[in-house]
Amino acid sequence: MHIAALKERAAGEKRVSVTPETVKKFIALGASVAVETGAGEAASISDADYKAAGAKVGPADKTVAGASIILGVQAPDVDTLKGASNGAWVAATFDPFGRKDRVEAYAKAGLEALSMEFMPRITRAQSMDVLSSQSNLAGYKAVIASADTYGRAFPMMMTAAGTIQAAKVFVMGVGVAGLQAIATAKRLGAQVSATDVRSATREQIQSLGAKPVFVEDVAGIEGEGSGGYATEMSEEYQKAQAELVSSHIAKQDIVITTALIPGRAAPRLISDAQIASMKPGSVIFDLAVAQGGNVEGSAPDTLVEKHGVTIMGYSNTPAHLPADASALFARNLYNFLSAFWDKEAGKPILDEEIGDAVRLTQGGEVVNDRLA
Ligand code: NAD
Repeated sequence: MHIAALKERAAGEKRVSVTPETVKKFIALGASVAVETGAGEAASISDADYKAAGAKVGPADKTVAGASIILGVQAPDVDTLKGASNGAWVAATFDPFGRKDRVEAYAKAGLEALSMEFMPRITRAQSMDVLSSQSNLAGYKAVIASADTYGRAFPMMMTAAGTIQAAKVFVMGVGVAGLQAIATAKRLGAQVSATDVRSATREQIQSLGAKPVFVEDVAGIEGEGSGGYATEMSEEYQKAQAELVSSHIAKQDIVITTALIPGRAAPRLISDAQIASMKPGSVIFDLAVAQGGNVEGSAPDTLVEKHGVTIMGYSNTPAHLPADASALFARNLYNFLSAFWDKEAGKPILDEEIGDAVRLTQGGEVVNDRLA
């Protein structure tokens, strides 16, 4: 069983799908591992580190030659995978709804695409879930980047020259990223409040010492669909939410938005009028900017100034913490493949629950129900 990992080719992608730690672990399972020259450079992992762990390091074509499993952070283009075994697996993120062309190309090439975004949200798959591991770091980074851009301090400070007030931070969307954003802002000494459409998050917000801000008394506010994901909300709810947010947001210094709905554009949470109601010098970090944005006028990797408010957001937030993001991503991939490792076969054999969820292509066809 030969496992290969290529250098990521997408612009701005600094992560890598394998680390010396997971190289050793794959070898301990009986696999051989090859890594493309320079694959870990942007994540502070040298070729020598990979070699010391037991990997072969070389050019892309040699790395892929004969591979039965190819690992990636973002799925590589099929033309970089020539020479892989027939029906080789590629375990990576595929952006399956956004990049249907790539999924088709994988089917055509006879490759088996395993989309890590489609990992089911079940307890035993938690350690395999790249969305969680990367969102957690993204939530942290959003707060750190906002604090850096903000022209004031986060904690209250009582000094001989007078008192500085604590910053008010409002987190919209309390999934994995939002929870980490709340925790990070609290650690920095901010006064934190948060909101979500899923009522189950109210307790989670309180348990982190933040104040929940919720729409009350509107029909259909449970907001939770399958797998713990949010559903799209009724018009009545959206109106009530907008009113609530308007009155709250005007008093905030920092707003972090994280709201996503799988397979759809990110919901619009903050309008231009609401931005105008904020104090000059406030900062909004739109973590959903790459999925269409929660904030009117936000643009990826650009500092947008509107009404004296800075709106920011990265197209790839985890890539701003490439070393930790790679370490966790690589462990997710290892946890996934090793959980199904069949000693006799010397390779992983997926079960139905997880296999059918993540498999996009097989035997030349697109086979995933969610893409039908
Ligand atoms: P996500 O990235 O899909 O969305 C981020 C948050 O935005 C969610 O909390 C969502 O409810 C919220 N949101 C959506 N529309 C909104 C709106 N209009 N206004 C305000 N908020 C809105 O979510 P996520 O981080 O992936 O987590 C969702 C849930 O799934 C969490 O409870 C998480 O703990 C759970 N989860 C479970 C597993 C597992 O068991 N394996 C893995 C990952 C996440």
